[in-house]
Amino acid sequence: MRHAVVIGASVSGLLAAAALSRIAERVTVLDRDQLPGEDVHRRGTAQSRHAHGLLARGLEVMEVLLPGLTAELMDRGAFGGDLQADCRWINEGRRLAPAPGDMPGLLVSRLLLEGQIRRRVSALPGVEVAGDRQVFDLTHSGEWVTGVRLVSGETISAGLVVDASGRGSRTPAWLERLGFAAPEEERVEIDLTYTTRVFRRRADDLAGDPVVIMAATRAVPRAGVALAMEGDRWIVTIGGYGDAPPADYESFVDYAGSLPAPDIHELVSGAEPLDDGCHHRTPASVRRRYERLSRFPRGLAVVGDAVCAFNPIYGQGMSVAAVEALRLGEWARRERPARELFRSIARVVDAPWDIVVGNDLRLPGVRGRRTAKIRMVNAYLERFHRAAEHDAELGRRFLRVANLLDRPTALLRPACLVRVLRGGAGAAGRDDRRVTREPRYPARH
Ligand SMILES: Cc1cc2nc3c(=O)[nH]c(=O)nc-3n(C[C@H](O)[C@H](O)[C@H](O)COP(=O)(O)OP(=O)(O)OC[C@H]3O[C@@H](n4cnc5c(N)ncnc54)[C@H](O)[C@@H]3O)c2cc1C
Repeated sequence: MRHAVVIGASVSGLLAAAALSRIAERVTVLDRDQLPGEDVHRRGTAQSRHAHGLLARGLEVMEVLLPGLTAELMDRGAFGGDLQADCRWINEGRRLAPAPGDMPGLLVSRLLLEGQIRRRVSALPGVEVAGDRQVFDLTHSGEWVTGVRLVSGETISAGLVVDASGRGSRTPAWLERLGFAAPEEERVEIDLTYTTRVFRRRADDLAGDPVVIMAATRAVPRAGVALAMEGDRWIVTIGGYGDAPPADYESFVDYAGSLPAPDIHELVSGAEPLDDGCHHRTPASVRRRYERLSRFPRGLAVVGDAVCAFNPIYGQGMSVAAVEALRLGEWARRERPARELFRSIARVVDAPWDIVVGNDLRLPGVRGRRTAKIRMVNAYLERFHRAAEHDAELGRRFLRVANLLDRPTALLRPACLVRVLRGGAGAAGRDDRRVTREPRYPARH
């Protein structure tokens, strides 16, 4: 392939370009925002002001696409940790039993991560990343997409156009204009508002633990994330389903006190704020079913949030985008019809989508069909989390699923069921992985 154009220079567009650079002679990544050399917040990725966790699978695949990325990020202040030993994962108000594990995590701000990916991708041979270039439309010849037309009127021809323009992607409208059907769209209305503030981090905060990830419960549909990040800072995001956490310091701290467990409240009470806070509303998780279309133009692909934009609280978007970039590269090398790419992407999206939708449908305010399967799995997971508070092996298995290393069905295997039914009783003694740190939460009955 001589030339590929990617629309969008955020995480999925840049990783797509990294994958395509191994196949195409030239790759041009276009973004409507200006892309200055330093890492600054920009309009097209307003989410960079909010906590971003990078799952183990995402880190693993980014390292495949851009070898050495982890070390470069660490040189710039990111730091690593053990996802099970160092992180406080709190489900149903209970902390997963901490234990030394085999999943490395990386704590890095979204700004630094995207900035470093951009620096790496821009330096790849044949790749150009260009800001201030807003794509207005596709150009085509019959059923072949031949390039893009910019708002400025300029046209750029390409053998492959990849839409990585995010949740607001125009591909459904472009398809209809070209005489194709738009994909079906599945939506789960969550009405989730994030409020985020940055605080100074002291070494003894949270007894040195650098992460709290707290899921909403049916009784308290509010979630929270606190991530240590470079520059001795905390980024603390609180999410309310159906309500908006306030940003001013006093009210933010009060609201943190209403979360399902006290960790984040303890952290922010008395912490030194470093900004004024900001909000982001996510009305729905949205999945576009491109794999179900019977006709699709040649020379066009869609990846990232443009295909599926998840409820962000599960921290999956960047990791899914990374795996999709790998699939895109494999597909482009084989020059197969788009249907094959979309089927492969659908297999990548299925598991994280099921996790998000299934979990969100526990919450009374979330609209959607609660099938018998979803209700059964959720009842099981409540018991699972009760047991995982004491059973580090269950914790490990949960984290492998939450980090997209295993499929969710791994939690239903007989070995898990037995441990769940036992309720974690005696787990530490029978566990082949020694629990070295006691759970810091007394059981709640
Ligand atoms: C509040 C929030 C928190 C999140 N937290 C996490 C998290 O913890 N972990 C995680 O993995 N993911 C998280 N995500 C998701 C993650 O940010 C995205 O999945 C990730 O950025 C990949 O998205 P994307 O690149 O497909 O699209 P986006 O990040 O939305 O980027 C789209 C890009 O396309 C550009 N663009 C749009 N239209 C055009 C056009 N016409 N022409 C040219 N350029 C265009 C935009 O300027 C932008 O740069 C979060 C998302 C939100 C909203």
